[in-house]
Amino acid sequence: MIIRKEHIVVTSVFIMAVIATILCAIYIPVSNSLAKGVVVIDAGHGGMDGGVSYGNMIEANINLELTRELKGILEDRGYKVVLTRDSANSLAGKKKDDMQKRKDIILKSKPDLIVSLHVNKYQDSKRRGVQVFYDDTKKNKEVGERFQYLINSNVNKKYAGRDDLKSLGGDYFICKCSPYPAVIIECGFISNEGDRMLLNDSKYKTHLVSTIADGIDSMMLSKVSA
Ligand SMILES: [Zn+2]
Repeated sequence: MIIRKEHIVVTSVFIMAVIATILCAIYIPVSNSLAKGVVVIDAGHGGMDGGVSYGNMIEANINLELTRELKGILEDRGYKVVLTRDSANSLAGKKKDDMQKRKDIILKSKPDLIVSLHVNKYQDSKRRGVQVFYDDTKKNKEVGERFQYLINSNVNKKYAGRDDLKSLGGDYFICKCSPYPAVIIECGFISNEGDRMLLNDSKYKTHLVSTIADGIDSMMLSKVSA
């Protein structure tokens, strides 16, 4: 049999194409999962612990609603999202056990980031806006400041009339219970009339959670390029 040069070329190209297809199939999903990452969203409170309230507005319900919407946006953007709670119930009868279960979920998920959603309350009813908290015993300050900057420019400036809120460090179990970066986002003051109106406005809530998702994107991008 005479093997012509053209046959060798065609066969070689075919084999290379097959190898390239196999390599793509193996490596593309891996690089995608690295780029998108795992996020734990922790809806604060639940069950007997409703958090702060005003009239029929209960923090635990607001946190869960925002959590579910943020989950949808992040999943659309390709993240794996793990929730610590996805019902009105707490994770356990006692607060201590409830927090331990949240910790267990976080440790099992090995997330790139933990975002805990809450609503704040303050004695001065004029205080308003979305504020970020972090655990200052870990290196979360930079993460907290970046979220606050984005929220100040995209949310607080437009809706609360101020863009000077500062992220604050403190001693927070949900932030320090694992080695992973974590922030608490207090999504407004239930003690302020303007913030209460915003927390009942679905357009505003979508804007807020989209901004939080943008913050997560920016965190992940800097992590990938680091
Ligand atoms: Zn809370």
